[in-house]
Amino acid sequence: MSLLEDKSQNTTPISQLGEFGLIGHLTKNIVLTHKNTVKGVGDDAAVIDIGDKYQLISTDLLVEGVHFDLAYTPLKHLGYKAVAVNVSDICAMNGEAKQITLGLAMSNRFTVEALEELYAGIHLACEHYKVDLVGGDTTSSTSGLMISITVLGEVEKNKISYRSGAKVNDLLIATGDLGAAYLGLQLLKREKELFVGNPTIQPDLTGNDYVLARQLKPEAGVKYIKILDELGIIPTSMIDISDGLSSEVLHLAKSSGVGITIYEDKIPVDYTAMNLANEFNLNPIFCALSGGEDYELLFTVSQEHYDKLKKDADFTIIGFVTDASDGNNFIANDGSSHSLTAQGWDAISKK
Ligand code: ADP
Ligand code: MG
Repeated sequence: MSLLEDKSQNTTPISQLGEFGLIGHLTKNIVLTHKNTVKGVGDDAAVIDIGDKYQLISTDLLVEGVHFDLAYTPLKHLGYKAVAVNVSDICAMNGEAKQITLGLAMSNRFTVEALEELYAGIHLACEHYKVDLVGGDTTSSTSGLMISITVLGEVEKNKISYRSGAKVNDLLIATGDLGAAYLGLQLLKREKELFVGNPTIQPDLTGNDYVLARQLKPEAGVKYIKILDELGIIPTSMIDISDGLSSEVLHLAKSSGVGITIYEDKIPVDYTAMNLANEFNLNPIFCALSGGEDYELLFTVSQEHYDKLKKDADFTIIGFVTDASDGNNFIANDGSSHSLTAQGWDAISKK
């Protein structure tokens, strides 16, 4: 019998709670004791009062076999992505990333040269996002590579955007386009399978540079934060799209105590992603809603900003905020309304 387990108690499989249920369960009794801890668990970053500004802190962990497969992920890209996904969480608070620390665990199958490649990508991202790598920890692992990055950022106090500030009648905006990262992953998986079946086959990735870049080398939404600042817009709520549009819409709605309605015909999908979805016999809107890893920003703004935003192709108005009693809805192209779920919408099987 393990020292750590009390076998007399009933045990609960983690799958019964799911990721968000588990986090909620484990963190529900946390009591914040410091006056300068402004926001703990529950947003894209924690918020600390450091005087004239807020400091933002967020951690992301990437695990080999779970978040990446080295059969098709170049280590340099992986290093870049590990930094970018952390910077993305600072963007989601309307902030600016400043420093990172880096935890690394690797098994003995990794060579110094391989780790140099990983670091080349990390350095490139640090340069690109103007972030200082200021520390970390290094240890061995029995099961491959793990990269844990903690990012520190800053935001002016009056400019912070939480997940919780969406107001009824606000507009819902997505940056860039959605679904491409998921399609990039499907392509890489398909080529890997073909390769395993016949190692003499060369991967056929031509014409798909965009979706591959979206999967392998995503960018954080720093440019969007800058544009919003220039336009004088502070989102009433914001989150980054790491788990798929529908999951993030539900997070904003729940945190803000509102309902959100989105429209199928407004969801931005790149045309190369659209073509590839057809090739895979996937609904491109499903890829946007449930795919994940796009690292775009999803935010709400007051309607007064409509004219400023509609001119900029970087921003797409995809829906609006309602009373919580209206629920979270997906309006399909045929006008039918469907309840939005974390997996997408309840009519997915009717494709
Ligand atoms: P994101 O997708 O923005 O990285 P997550 O969904 O991973 O956010 O986490 C949701 C919230 O829960 C965040 O505020 C995060 O800091 C917190 N969180 C996640 N895992 C843990 C944990 N093991 N212990 C405490 N807080 C956690
Ligand atoms: Mg996030």
